[in-house]
Amino acid sequence: MRIKYLYKYGKKKALTMSYDDCSTEDRRLVELFNRYHIKGTFHLISGQMENDWRVKLEEIPTLYAGHEVSCHSLTHPFFDQIPKEELLYEMLEDKKRLEAACGYPVRGMSYPNGIVNEDVLTCLKACGFVYARTAGSSENFKLPEDFMQWTGTCHHSHDIIGKIEQFRTAYYALPLFYIWGHSFEFPRNSGNNSWAMIEEFCDRFTATFEDSVWYATNIEIYDYVTALRRVSLSADRTMVFNPSAETLWFEVDGEPVEIKSGVTKLK
Ligand SMILES: [Zn+2]
Repeated sequence: MRIKYLYKYGKKKALTMSYDDCSTEDRRLVELFNRYHIKGTFHLISGQMENDWRVKLEEIPTLYAGHEVSCHSLTHPFFDQIPKEELLYEMLEDKKRLEAACGYPVRGMSYPNGIVNEDVLTCLKACGFVYARTAGSSENFKLPEDFMQWTGTCHHSHDIIGKIEQFRTAYYALPLFYIWGHSFEFPRNSGNNSWAMIEEFCDRFTATFEDSVWYATNIEIYDYVTALRRVSLSADRTMVFNPSAETLWFEVDGEPVEIKSGVTKLK
């Protein structure tokens, strides 16, 4: 019996999009994602939402419906240049405001200016954050070992259309195509920063994979993969124990098998 992991609904690959800074161009980007049923995570700066070029706090529940609202700090400071009490305030206050606006616990964030160190990690974990995205690019489709230092595949300017073929042939288990950026970059029309590029990506990606890919938010990937990492198999590999409330999927001898909470017999 050969056993492999699958993503939610038995999918073999996943795509997630991650956009920072809540500029008003998020409206057009969300509309684009909705058209293609692509899911995004939006890292918002709740202390700056009265600025003209940011989306408004009141828009959050409707604009980002079906996507994930995530933190990016209250005012976007450099985390290594402020006292830890200030850092704590920046993150907790951001979390509180966004949760009040979106109506669910906000558990993820992305690092403003990409800065992360030991003090930052300690503070974020104490505030209840379970994942945090860096400003780096791994240029691969691997899942992170540590979700608190989650480096995505790449910024959207790194030839994401060219990477579709690499993703199609990615050989390792559970490939994830993780794209990040800022929607205000698209009107620049320089290099790969253009609306035409991201529209073409969405079109080509969904035409290539249709519904064989799981389109998920960052937190959905975190929740699913974390649950998958907690399962136990019996020594003879005929039973699996899933301690989480998530329904998981395995591939057993080439067939998808649903693994509900509790014990499932594989044969
Ligand atoms: Zn930012």
